[in-house]
Amino acid sequence: LLMLHSKGGPGALRAQDIDFLRALADLASLAIHHARLFESTRDAACLDGLTGLLNHGAFTTAAEERIAQTLKEGHPLSILMLDADHFKVCNDTHGHPFGDKVLVALARTLKAQVRPTDLVGRWGGEEFVVVLPEADMEMAFGVAERVRRAMSSMRLPAPGGLKVPAPTVSIGVASLEAGGKGFAELLQASDTALYCAKRAGRNRTLRFDPTKPIPEESLPEAES
Ligand code: GH3
Ligand code: MG
Ligand code: MG
Repeated sequence: LLMLHSKGGPGALRAQDIDFLRALADLASLAIHHARLFESTRDAACLDGLTGLLNHGAFTTAAEERIAQTLKEGHPLSILMLDADHFKVCNDTHGHPFGDKVLVALARTLKAQVRPTDLVGRWGGEEFVVVLPEADMEMAFGVAERVRRAMSSMRLPAPGGLKVPAPTVSIGVASLEAGGKGFAELLQASDTALYCAKRAGRNRTLRFDPTKPIPEESLPEAES
């Protein structure tokens, strides 16, 4: 919608002026349309369709960049890896659409607990990753615990209208100060801590400790 105000009073705009303005408005609307199309194409390529978080690929690219930068600066940085507990049971009990609602609620909870500059991604399925620049292990542990507590007290409406407890989450925390060398190593460390959190009984946050190898009982069963 183009609003024109002519100082010359009625009739001050000639027919050719109106034609020119019409052509200008057409060009402007085309440019707006292209900008919107570009935005939606970029979002579709980078964002997870269900939660709106960064998808696996976009998160990896952003995290690698941020971590390389942080290593140069020598600043702290931490990473969280989260996994919903017994999520398969949740789907089986309340249905897949309810499971989807849980994932959306978890994504919102994560976004609410971090800074706008932190990176939050859906790593896949019911697994999420967060990069916390400028956060040391203890700060990251605090963020993780706030998320974990929020989820463990959350109730969501299930089919039939009854509110049921949301699944809990297990979280692994790793930090550059604790020996991480890059994104891949940091991810591996947080995954190890998450694995230990699952083995220790779920609904807990564990810090990666490079001085302690994975306990015997935490190792996967040998394949027969
Ligand atoms: P654990 O506590 O060991 O993590 O157990 P779990 O049941 O959460 O783990 P498991 O890997 O056995 O099951 C994950 C389930 O997550 C199975 C899969 O169907 C479900 N899932 C993955 N992506 C989605 C999704 O987008 N929506 C829903 N509703 N379910 C999903
Ligand atoms: Mg999983
Ligand atoms: Mg799980």
